This record gives sequence, C-alpha cells and structure tokens, in this order.
Amino acid sequence: MTCLDCNKELDYLDHKSAMDLLGLELCAKHKGRMEKLIKLKRTPKEAIQLYYGLKNAGVNPMLEWWDGKKSVDIAISRVKLNIEIDTEYHSITHEQAINDLEEAMHSFRNGFTTIRIPHVLIKYYLKETVDNILGIMEGLKANIKVL
Ligand SMILES: [Zn+2]
Repeated sequence: MTCLDCNKELDYLDHKSAMDLLGLELCAKHKGRMEKLIKLKRTPKEAIQLYYGLKNAGVNPMLEWWDGKKSVDIAISRVKLNIEIDTEYHSITHEQAINDLEEAMHSFRNGFTTIRIPHVLIKYYLKETVDNILGIMEGLKANIKVL
C-alpha cells in the first residue's frame, strides 16, 4: 500500500483512516491536505476521487482552481475544461439552476467548457467517467487546433 500522490509506504492506520474518509489510499500528509480543502472550500469527496482518477490516467488536473470569480472543483487548463461535481442535484432550486447557467456562460466567454457531473456517477462509474472525460479532452484539443 502506497500513497496515490507521493508513493510513500502506508501503514495500516494511515491507510485505514484515508480509506474511511475519502475511499483513497493517501498518506497522512496528503489526506490532511484534502481534509483542509473539504473544510475550507467544501470540496466534495467525489471531486477528490475524480482528481486522483484523472491523475492516474495521465491527466494534469487542478483541484479547487480559482477562475477569477469562483473556485472550480476540477480544472484541466490545457484544454480549458472545468468540471463541477453536483452533490445535490435532486433538490436543485431555480436559483441554483440560473446561477449554474450564468457561471457556464461566463466560462464559455473565457473559452472554457464546463461540464457538471453528478457525484453518484463517480461513486459507481469512476472508470467510465474518467474515460469519457478523456474523450471530451480529445474533442476539445481537436477544436482548439481548428481555431
Ligand atoms: Zn502522500
């Protein structure tokens, strides 16, 4: 068992506490960093799981990236892709919906594409979610070349 981030060897307790909190194999230092993000920015656990899933697939994602107006759950700057994890899409209000649409509009104006991913997708289909994001990145890359 080694840390997903720094490859440090994990002992049983470090492994267990990170698995219990995040479902990820992380050392105490990297687990602590993620705990801080959750506390300060209310980062969803699923955003952290997707972040490591993407890293594992060779992508260079950024967690809680500040775009000048708001903090984006995950950004992949090379293809200008923002990923937001929806944790409460069952109870979305019209205010939230119009805010989301306005945020999407601002992102598009800056050349960024925003996709919203329900957190359950990461829970049940992490691999497929990562594969689809890789496909979206390919598409975006092709479009950037055309422009
Ligand atoms: Zn580590």
